[in-house]
Amino acid sequence: MKPAARCCWNRKKVLITSGPTREYLDPVRYLTNSSSGKMGRALAIEAKRLGARVELVSGPTGLKDPRGVRTIHVVTALEMRRVVMRLFRRADVIIGAAAVGDWRVSRSSNHKIKRKGLLRLTLIPNPDIIKEVGLKRRLGRRQIVVGFALETRNRLAEARKKLIKKGLDLIVANGPENIGSGRASLTLLGRDGVPVVIGTRSKSAAARAILRRVLVMLK
Ligand code: C5P
Repeated sequence: MKPAARCCWNRKKVLITSGPTREYLDPVRYLTNSSSGKMGRALAIEAKRLGARVELVSGPTGLKDPRGVRTIHVVTALEMRRVVMRLFRRADVIIGAAAVGDWRVSRSSNHKIKRKGLLRLTLIPNPDIIKEVGLKRRLGRRQIVVGFALETRNRLAEARKKLIKKGLDLIVANGPENIGSGRASLTLLGRDGVPVVIGTRSKSAAARAILRRVLVMLK
């Protein structure tokens, strides 16, 4: 990494959400999303390597906590939200790489639900964490908010809609082929509306490309 980039990240605070969340139906069963947490972890490691102070709010992944990164473990979307709401105001950069569960059951059971044929669940929407950050971010001092959009069709159009709706500065469009893989193929879309394709590469290299773009916006 060029010394110039390292100097600019020095002392910057980066908050990253990562991994899936779990929404429990009962003590043993849960709804979740496919997410290994590798992309969020790679972002945390690379930001730390560049000299940033990094906080990683991670759902259950089974990955090792990155060294030198304050990692806060959460399970549910509501827990992730609570931690992010507490921390985001002090961050210079907030990156939502987590695959947050979009719904939770209206009432989870304290005991294991018995198997008796049809089971009806009522799901209620979880709060959109990065959207709340995008809308509540501090005015005045610069704060960069980055989201991810994993889409199975109309990738760029859907990502563009999310960029605006969630009040983000940058969105990273990607597809299901990246889930669980050590490699990622991404497209960066900022407020200028010009997509920048990051060809398939390791998640570490993809993380560096995202952070390079963020650095330009931080200056
Ligand atoms: O699920 P969706 O495609 O809307 O996710 C886009 C972005 O929003 C991602 O950055 C994800 O981390 C974030 N998100 C969130 N809270 C949710 C749903 C998504 O922070 N409840």
